[in-house]
Amino acid sequence: MAGTVALIVAAGRGHRFGGDRPKQYELLAGRPLLAWSLAAFARHPRISAVRAVIHPDDRPLYAEAAANLALLEPVSGGAERQESVLRGLESLAGLAPDRVLIHDGARPNPGAATIDAVIAALERHPAAIPALPVTDSLKRGAEGRIAATASREGLYRAQTPQGFRFAEILAAHRRLAASDGAALTDDAAVAEAAGLEVALVPGLEENVKVTTREDLRRVERALIAAEEIRVGSGYDVHRFGSGERLWLCGVPVPHEHGLVGHSDADVGIHALVDAILGALGEGDIGEHFPPSDERWRGAPSRIFLEEACRLVTARGGRLVNLDVTLICERPKLSPHRLAMRQRLSELTGLAMDRVSVKATTTEGLGFTGRQEGIAAQATATLALRAG
Ligand code: MG
Repeated sequence: MAGTVALIVAAGRGHRFGGDRPKQYELLAGRPLLAWSLAAFARHPRISAVRAVIHPDDRPLYAEAAANLALLEPVSGGAERQESVLRGLESLAGLAPDRVLIHDGARPNPGAATIDAVIAALERHPAAIPALPVTDSLKRGAEGRIAATASREGLYRAQTPQGFRFAEILAAHRRLAASDGAALTDDAAVAEAAGLEVALVPGLEENVKVTTREDLRRVERALIAAEEIRVGSGYDVHRFGSGERLWLCGVPVPHEHGLVGHSDADVGIHALVDAILGALGEGDIGEHFPPSDERWRGAPSRIFLEEACRLVTARGGRLVNLDVTLICERPKLSPHRLAMRQRLSELTGLAMDRVSVKATTTEGLGFTGRQEGIAAQATATLALRAG
């Protein structure tokens, strides 16, 4: 494979963090921490593929983080970071990419310009990392007191993604693994040990490595401040017909009639898809999935919702919350609302408390009152990366 593959390392246990989930799956603005870096690389035009290295126990959490992203299958890491990276690199050997960017899954905000700068530097150097010059005074301390002031001259703080020509970093990691030397703290150190020249490119202050809860809140504030909030609304109606199954918000609902439509006529999902497309300014469901297209005959409407979510991700955005109101006299929908919220949560990757399904009647008035069909309206809030 030509091009650059991103390897996101997220196999650690993060014991210092506490909480009931491993650190990389803690929620950051409603989305798992790891999802942010996966999305940042997946949407970058110069990245051809993204693979995560994860802990084997974390597969269900990973599936949540990777929802609606086009990624390579994850691989399982080892006990130490270095071993995890080597396993990730070995898994890419068959693809033989030109370059690999190795990124720490605990850094949710690598920055598109940083990714560009690292890749550009690899044209002239076998390895390149983003780094920031140390600007604070450096003190050596002992027992709560300064023992000495150290020079900060020429010192940098190393960040990730760290970029390498693929064949060279794989060879360097293999050699190190065979030598059973001391563990190194980053991949640049592995390259240095192999005698590779490592270039420095400007890092990004906001590319924070989350190690504490305070870091998580700080990076959350920075990410939210860089987002623009969008709201969209959607409305749809389908008529009842015989011999059809009734699908509402991705759930089959027992009733003597189903709804008639070109697809499965899931009026709740259709309104929701229009709300998401509306917030994106991307037209409506009929434009994306024309009823004249045979492909959508009898299609499950989840396909439309998945595509709408993919469009959000491709714009560097995320769903914030969804709210659907179903309007009909019968069937009675309250027994199905929880299942509908669960299904929409699965399909969108949104947490349950950000997905709402409500039901109402029109007190016998109008076409819904006469039980001729079901109407649905929906609202979607999105956050898009500004700029
Ligand atoms: Mg429709």
